[in-house]
Amino acid sequence: MRKVYLDHSATTPVRKEVADLVVEYMLDKFGNPSSVHSFGREAKKALDEARERIANLIGADFKEIYFTSGGTESDNIAILGAAHANSKKGKHIITSAIEHHAVTDPCKHLEQQGFEVTYLPVDDQGIVSIEDLEKAIKPETILISIMHVNNEIGTIQDIGAMAKLARDKGIIFHTDAVQSLGKIPIDVKELNIDMLTGSSHKIYGPKGVGVLYVRKGVNFESIMYGGAQERKKRPGTENLSGIAGFGLAAELAGREMEKENERQRVLRDKLIKGILENIPYTRLNGHPEKRIASNVNVSVEFIEGESLLLSLDMKGIAASSGSACTSGSLDPSHVLLATGLSHEIAHGSLRMTLGRENTEADIDYVLEVLPQIVDRLRAMSPIYNK
Ligand code: PMP
Repeated sequence: MRKVYLDHSATTPVRKEVADLVVEYMLDKFGNPSSVHSFGREAKKALDEARERIANLIGADFKEIYFTSGGTESDNIAILGAAHANSKKGKHIITSAIEHHAVTDPCKHLEQQGFEVTYLPVDDQGIVSIEDLEKAIKPETILISIMHVNNEIGTIQDIGAMAKLARDKGIIFHTDAVQSLGKIPIDVKELNIDMLTGSSHKIYGPKGVGVLYVRKGVNFESIMYGGAQERKKRPGTENLSGIAGFGLAAELAGREMEKENERQRVLRDKLIKGILENIPYTRLNGHPEKRIASNVNVSVEFIEGESLLLSLDMKGIAASSGSACTSGSLDPSHVLLATGLSHEIAHGSLRMTLGRENTEADIDYVLEVLPQIVDRLRAMSPIYNK
């Protein structure tokens, strides 16, 4: 049976050249970067090289790069670390209603500790308004965290305008760029970004490695204690092989970004058009243009998202109903609800996210199989009587 992987926002396969490098740093160049001997020095050099590669991808200085265990940890350090380090200035934080739980959950935790958090709404296409942000800022606001690209509906926020507003008011601006790093150009200096989260496994690197960029001069505290690694901000022996792999994956992603974007955009648009034109009662979620090239998210009325996923899986197609982190829970996506969808329609949503191995033949296969599945499921649906 044909296998089509369309869940690249959940995770990506590691590239062969990256996997080879990871193995090299596990088997041969395995030293501890903190050791003084030649093995340690070799490891330290690899760490610095990876730091340089990530810094180059986002226009940062290599001293502004901190390696972590992934996007979740980077978001936690950014939110908790910046909030605690700056709490004397104020205790107000602004974020959006469509953030990943790695941002909203630390914010909720801070609310229990006496911080106040404003969750900005989004419009029906998933966009945060700059005017709303401006109105929400108070003298006590110390941190703004708005994601760059949404993991479920693929909308791209104007983080440059938001970060400029924050910079002018002396407020720290953090962005969760897990779904945009290596996929769309980011220049942290041009965009006035103070803190940025990225993750290796979304860009064909190994799992369990992430990055937090922190602009020089931005005050944040460590959330762990126990060692001097990562300039004491993230103690613990570094995941050397993973970090080396992440560095290479980031460099390669940067190199092929433009070409891949063009290619995936064509496939994405064919898939969206094919679904909307050939399957009645479907709608596109997210913004039609301010959208990452890899994301398709549609609502298919009168159908449960989970049964759609299972039927697709039986045909070899791997898709998702929302974010991998929350699937399995029966609650509809907080992102889709924030765009104004009803619980019922939000339940029937389907996310397909493209990657570098997908071809036009994959899209044709989905467009052949999906309408048949929808017809069959609707025929069994008690709420479908069209
Ligand atoms: N933020 C966003 C927007 C994500 O999509 C993800 C991964 N689903 C994360 C954070 C968490 O990253 P990680 O899996 O590396 O912990």
